[in-house]
Amino acid sequence: MSVQAVLEEIRERPGTGEVIPIIDPSTEEQITEFTDCGPEAIDAAVARAKASAEAGVWSGLPDYERAKVLWRVADLIDENANILAELESLNAGIPPAQAQIITKVGSEWFRYYAGWCTKIDGIARDVNTGGLTGVDSHMHTYTLREPYGVVGLIFPWNGPVFNFCAKLAPALAAGCSSVVKPAEETPLSALVLDRILAEAGVPEGVVNLVNGYGHTAGAAITAHPDVEKVAFTGSTEVGRAIVHASADSNLNKITLELGGKSPVVMFDDANLDLAIPMASFGTFIHSGQACVCGSRIFAQRGIYEQVVEGIANMANLMQLGGPQDEGAMVGPLISQKQLNRVLGYIDQGKSDGVEIVTGGSRLDRKGYFVHPTVVTNVDPDNSRLFQEEIFGPVVTILPFDDEDEAVALANNSTYGLAATTWTNDLGRAHRIAKRLKAGTVGLNCQMQFDHSMPFGGYKQSGWGYESGKAGIETYLQTKIVWAQM
Ligand code: NAD
Repeated sequence: MSVQAVLEEIRERPGTGEVIPIIDPSTEEQITEFTDCGPEAIDAAVARAKASAEAGVWSGLPDYERAKVLWRVADLIDENANILAELESLNAGIPPAQAQIITKVGSEWFRYYAGWCTKIDGIARDVNTGGLTGVDSHMHTYTLREPYGVVGLIFPWNGPVFNFCAKLAPALAAGCSSVVKPAEETPLSALVLDRILAEAGVPEGVVNLVNGYGHTAGAAITAHPDVEKVAFTGSTEVGRAIVHASADSNLNKITLELGGKSPVVMFDDANLDLAIPMASFGTFIHSGQACVCGSRIFAQRGIYEQVVEGIANMANLMQLGGPQDEGAMVGPLISQKQLNRVLGYIDQGKSDGVEIVTGGSRLDRKGYFVHPTVVTNVDPDNSRLFQEEIFGPVVTILPFDDEDEAVALANNSTYGLAATTWTNDLGRAHRIAKRLKAGTVGLNCQMQFDHSMPFGGYKQSGWGYESGKAGIETYLQTKIVWAQM
């Protein structure tokens, strides 16, 4: 399949809603368009998924057969790595080398969950109830782990291949059927991945790809009475809307992977030769459009100036550019809307009196590029720059005096997705790990994750966990069976 064929295929997919343009964010040029599928298509997709679940064409297969299919999916992703990476760069502005790495992560996600297919089990116990029920008190009881019938999988634009694989691999391993909606900005790679699933042997009707806006297609999935579970990645604002939709429809179960405002705490005994470049990378990579990017740095007072200067120098070194620009490390923001949002936060900060150490403006060329931006002199209690998720290449840096102040500043957020601390004091590192209110904590490392470890947010950064064993649990429900002996 060629990129051109994918651009044509999406244009030809049927729909009844608005025509949605797809823009290359590094040039602002429209590369293709598609039609919002419309509510009837969501009904039809859910009906196909439900029929496949009831017929057991996937959930009823021997577990080792499901495993083989998922392994084949992984191999096919590797075989198609070039086109997937090319689409990732074209559609999401991700530099080519990074797009290749993301694609590799996607195939490993399928291999990891292929292994889980044969390891889904429950517990069994012989129970003596003590005769309280007036019948023979000897019982045999066991649990069955059963997949949800139809799950709705909805995810954002910031890593289209990764997001698709991170949701589909565990959902398929568990035996679920699904309706899948990628972000309206980045639907292209999902077409290739959908084809790969079919080629690998996922039966028809098990995975149903739909395209459209969030407020149309997404909302129709979350409110559908036959969707038993929604696994969502995206903003906290939309996460809240999904909770409302569940409450107003069938109380479907929900997993939410939401926004973040992740702190990075640097103590004066830290190895700054490592901490400064890693924190810069962990802040500005993908133009700050990764949920776990560090966006609030706190430096102990003695090293504060050095950290500000070091991060600003690194920010200035980061070469911005599109997929065609050789050596570009950081791509554009995804859209005009996102560009306006990021520049809006910077302008708001300027009028609040913050100091822009470096950056603070868009690049003087076509494309939604914003210079990596370092901001100081921020009021942590009142500044929107400090409190709200910007999802752009903007970091605030504040000084602190001691451990208690560092923890208080870091935890001064409604979010709790990830956090990092840099220190060479082993005891302090582990103390801080316990005190930071975040789902993932890095000790002298940042932006680490792996398919084998759970991932999820504290506070308003999420509900539940994905990835690792917890990732497959997300798509299983537990039935408890009691048998009179
Ligand atoms: P978004 O919430 O606007 O959209 C995410 C997805 O939800 C899209 O597919 C969109 O079409 C859909 N959607 C929008 N409104 C909907 C509705 N009412 N009902 C159902 N679906 C709806 O998020 P975004 O701007 O695309 O992505 C950025 C956000 O995603 C950031 O907040 C970021 O932190 C978050 N994110 C979180 C993680 C994580 O793992 N915690 C990972 C990546 C991104």
